[in-house]
Order: sequence, then C-alpha cells, then structure tokens
Amino acid sequence: MKKIISLIICLLLFSYCGSQNNTMTYKTETSDMAASSKPKLVVGIVVDQMRYDYLTRFESKYGEGGFKRMMREGFNCKNNHFNYVPTYTGPGHASIYTGTTPKSHGVIGNNWYDKSTKEMVYCAGDDTVQSIGTMDKAGKMSPHRMLTTTFTDENRLFTQMRGKTIGVSLKDRGAILPAGHTANAAYWFHGKDEGSWITSSFYMNSLPNWVRNFNSSETAESYLKVWNTLYDIATYTESGSDDNNFEGGFAGKDKATFPYDLKVLSKENRGYDILKATPYGNSLTADFAMAAIKGEQLGLDAITDVLTISFSSTDYVGHNFGVNSKEVEDTYIRLDKDLERLFLYLDETVGKGDYTVFLTSDHGAVDVPSYLSSVKIPAGYIDNKARKAKFQKFLNSTFGASDIIENISNNQIFLDREKVRALGLSLSDVQNAIANEQINYNNVAKVYTATTMNSTSFSTGVEALLQNGFNQKRSGDVILVNDIAYISYSKTGSTHGSALNYDTHVPLLFFGYG
Ligand SMILES: [Zn+2]
Repeated sequence: MKKIISLIICLLLFSYCGSQNNTMTYKTETSDMAASSKPKLVVGIVVDQMRYDYLTRFESKYGEGGFKRMMREGFNCKNNHFNYVPTYTGPGHASIYTGTTPKSHGVIGNNWYDKSTKEMVYCAGDDTVQSIGTMDKAGKMSPHRMLTTTFTDENRLFTQMRGKTIGVSLKDRGAILPAGHTANAAYWFHGKDEGSWITSSFYMNSLPNWVRNFNSSETAESYLKVWNTLYDIATYTESGSDDNNFEGGFAGKDKATFPYDLKVLSKENRGYDILKATPYGNSLTADFAMAAIKGEQLGLDAITDVLTISFSSTDYVGHNFGVNSKEVEDTYIRLDKDLERLFLYLDETVGKGDYTVFLTSDHGAVDVPSYLSSVKIPAGYIDNKARKAKFQKFLNSTFGASDIIENISNNQIFLDREKVRALGLSLSDVQNAIANEQINYNNVAKVYTATTMNSTSFSTGVEALLQNGFNQKRSGDVILVNDIAYISYSKTGSTHGSALNYDTHVPLLFFGYG
C-alpha cells in the first residue's frame, strides 16, 4: 500500500487536482480506510491516445456509470501533462507505471535504433523467449528493455510476491510494460485468422484454462458485426461531418462513413485485426479483463493485487479516422459503457470501496493537419524526401562523406562515431555543424545536440521535455523538433509524439478505495 500511495502522490505531484465534491469524497474514503487497511485490487486503466478534451467534449453523451462515475466519486486531475518527449505508447506506458521518464526507464520510443547492435529494436521485442498460445512470432515479447521497476513490481516485492499482477491489452506493449518484470502474466491480442489472447514464455509455458476457454468461446468472433453509431448520428454534434477528406477508413470500402460491416471488411483488413480499429476491440478487452478477474481470483483476499488494462482501440481509431471524427466520438461513447460494465463487475466481485481505479492515457494526439489547414490553422506534413536530399548534399560537401550518419529515427540523428573518429573530427563539432544545418530546413523548429543535453540542465519548455526523454546510453546525437502540427504521416488520421499540449495533456482520474 505504501508503494501505491507513493505512486498516487507521485502522480499528483505533477498534476493539478480538482474534485467536484472534494470534501465529501475525502470523508467517505477516510471511513473506508478505517474498515480495511489496503485495497484488495488496484485497477490501472490506460486509454490509448485519450486527449484530455475527450472527457469534456463528449461529456453530454456519457452515462453516469463510466467516466462520470470516476469524476463524481473520485478525483479529476485536470492539468495532467507528460513531461518528456516522445509521447508514444511504449514510453507512455513505461512512464505511467515506473513513475520515471525515458531518461531513466530507457523506453525511448516504440521502436528505436540500438547503438550497440546497430539495428532497430522494438520496445517489447525479445527473441530469447517463445510465443505461447500461437505459432506466430507475435508472442516473442518481454519487458527486458525497460530498465526500472514499475509500481506493480514494487507491489510484488512488498507483498513477497503474494499480490498478483496481471496485464491486459490488445497491444503487447500495452500489456507488458505496465505489468512489469515480475508479473504473473501479461496477455495481448493476436488478430489475423486466430483472434485469440496470447502471451510469452517470459511468463509461463502454457495458457491457463480460463484463457483457453475464453479463446474458444468465440467472443472475438461475435464482434465481427455491423458497426453503426450507438445513438442517432445526427446527435453527434461534437465531431465533424461523417464524410470528409481527413479520414483513412478500411480497405474494401470507398468512404470512411457509417455503417461498417466488419464481417465483410475483415477479409481485406487482416481478419480479426479489423476489431482493433473499432470500439469492439475495447469491449473485447473489457470482456477479457473481467475473465481475468474471475480466472485469477483477483481482489479476493487481503493482499493487494494489480490488474493493468490498456484500451488500445481508441489509438487505432484515432490514427485511422482522426481527432475530429464521428468514429472517435462513437468509440468514446462505447468505451464509457464498457467502463460502466467493468466497474459494476468490480462492485459485484471485489466489492464497492474495496478496489482502487486510476484512469489515464499514454499520450494525446494532434488534429488531422490537413483538416487544420482547411480551417486556416498553420499545420501540415514534413517533406522528408526534400530534407534528406538537402542533408546528403551538406554531409558530402562538409565532411566529404554521407555515411557519417548511421540512422535517423524518432527525430534523432545517430552518428557513426567510429567514422567521425576516423575522419579526425570532433564529435561535438560534428553535432553542432549538423544542428546549425538542420535548423535551416523547412518545418524544423528547434535542434539540440546530445552534448548540450549532457552538459545543460533544462527545467522549462520543450527543452526540459526533450531532456527527460533523453537517455544518454540510447538516444541519438542530434535531436530535432518539428513545427507545431507538422507531422510525418499520411494526410488522413491523427498521430502523436511531440512535446506540445495536444500530445501531453491527458486525463488522470482516481476513484474507489483511498
Ligand atoms: Zn498511436
């Protein structure tokens, strides 16, 4: 409990907390605390790509038992921001659960260039383990690249491994990183033609019966149905028109408009994977999380267990249809219903007041830049081809070699340090020369070198966020910051990753015990 409280305090430290009925809530919970000394279960919920404004923009459409119940019975930290770059799923989940930033936990991206092996690595990828529950390599995952402990690890240590940890998410990294190094299990969804929940030999050698039963229950198949808006689409006045030029949609359907026949469309959209980019992926996650509570008997004894749930569909829907789409609105209205269902189940099984829930997000998202420019707001897309050509020319004319660069990824430039040495150049001179060149390029707003990151301490602004995301061992030599609302992405759908409010501002809600 100490650890959980310290996490909560730690989260509160970088947020402003406002509760609708602060005093009342505090009183009720103080008396709860006297009755039992710790929560039986902590449920950590991450809603992937949930901007803070989704809480308020769609508020009139939410019921009383989901988001609104959390705000009514608990605390709403209204000014909660991530304090590092890049705002991606891997770093987000690692930061929420470790209470640190990429500078310390080392998850500097979803994928990044590994300077020692000289290849791209995936944050949760692990070739030393085997898939469990599928023949596909989708199970070869573990948290080994995360360098610090999560609060779920600390709870395991504190309880002498008696308190359980189970992680659940459609995405492997959304299940694995929160559950930590000592988890009993992390489960994620394998789509394609299988549609089942899988894990890796990092946790176990075969799936428990409750997972096998769930996989053979055809729950996933039941969601391959028609997706239409939950309420009359004419009432969805909080989002843009259904038919516009800013949405991706699915292969096999001309327009990104309701309704979507998922059974039919699944054939051209990697089978069960289509569920990920629909609200039903979240429903399936809630179903599986409830099966986990039952199957693992979570929250039944006095020793605190932890269940981590990451709802990934909100991210897939956002990437596909964009921040302003009716599809995003419908996904949140339906997620609200899934949360209500989950909370009622927790009331029934663990008991009202005996569990603690927190809900946050791993990052926000930018409005689709092509939409923003259509309403005259400065925004757009980075011309990486032009940038690259200009840069090659510079490298050749300045250093007589373009292979001085080993890799460019996540807005970082990695130098071939051996080559730099062989050419008799100073590392910081090369970094500085590149920074002074890159700053002249279109849509490059700021450039910093690793030498600056290592020698200067920033406490405010984008620079401070860059520094919190900068891992001396893993990060690159030159760090680029793009113009506001300029992204490297398709002209449809939203993405994220910056130090700006649209990516850093996310909800943080607490309710239940304590
Ligand atoms: Zn994303």
